Amino acid sequence: MKREVTIPNSHPRYASLMGREKIVSGYKNGLVAIEGLIAHGRGECFDYLIGERTTDSAKLAINTAAAQLLVSVYPVISINGNVAALCSETVCSLHRSIIKSMLEINLFYYTKEREASIAAELKNYGVDNILGTNPENLIKIPELESNRRLVDRKGIFKSDTVLVPLEDGDRTLALKKMGKTVITIDLNPLSRTSLTADITIVDNVIRAIPLLIERIQHHKKNSSNEYLQQLISRFDNKKGLNDALSIMSNNRVT
Ligand code: ATP
Repeated sequence: MKREVTIPNSHPRYASLMGREKIVSGYKNGLVAIEGLIAHGRGECFDYLIGERTTDSAKLAINTAAAQLLVSVYPVISINGNVAALCSETVCSLHRSIIKSMLEINLFYYTKEREASIAAELKNYGVDNILGTNPENLIKIPELESNRRLVDRKGIFKSDTVLVPLEDGDRTLALKKMGKTVITIDLNPLSRTSLTADITIVDNVIRAIPLLIERIQHHKKNSSNEYLQQLISRFDNKKGLNDALSIMSNNRVT
């Protein structure tokens, strides 16, 4: 039976419920793995605790991530099912705003059908050259046993910087061991990915990506390479994680 969901935009949980609907339709449309629903729920919980807003500390991480993406020689954005369901359109805009970046599909729970659905979704928003889908170009990441041990030799394998929103910890560690600079967007400041990445944006991917595009556009117009390098070298990832934890744990019921 087809289900109709109408959420008035005056609803206090409107943005959260719309995100949930996107994940549910993504599951029904073959973009999201069933396990992705659980990962989304974990994200919702941390989002609730941080007040469903982009904190000043997350804004600093976003600004630094924008700088890192612009100074990179070959940045790659890794796409999984949840990211495709929640923000394909803005991720494609982000890819275009960086100019020289590539998009690569990387699935923890891999099926050929899901990979094809995600590629089709990205094509809907005008990106045709999507990496990670040609078996001839896939090679193994050392020391990683999960399905996503395979990366594209034209993409993540040769990248200098990888943006991995909603990533799992083993893979982030493997990317670090390969010498990549890793940027993540993860609402859980205690996840292994958050702890391992060079730049962790503790924010909802739905809110963070448009802000990242805005900062990239700003820096392209206004910032020198030297200034961008300074932003990166001053960034303290652990401080950002501790700021997020403080905000979450200082919540009080009055
Ligand atoms: P790790 O392996 O890094 O310790 P994990 O086992 O939680 O963490 P996954 O379940 O693979 O890793 O990744 C999901 C992560 O993404 C979780 O940390 C979750 O909080 C986060 N997350 C889920 N939805 C969102 C979202 N919309 N925006 C940002 N982060 C999200």
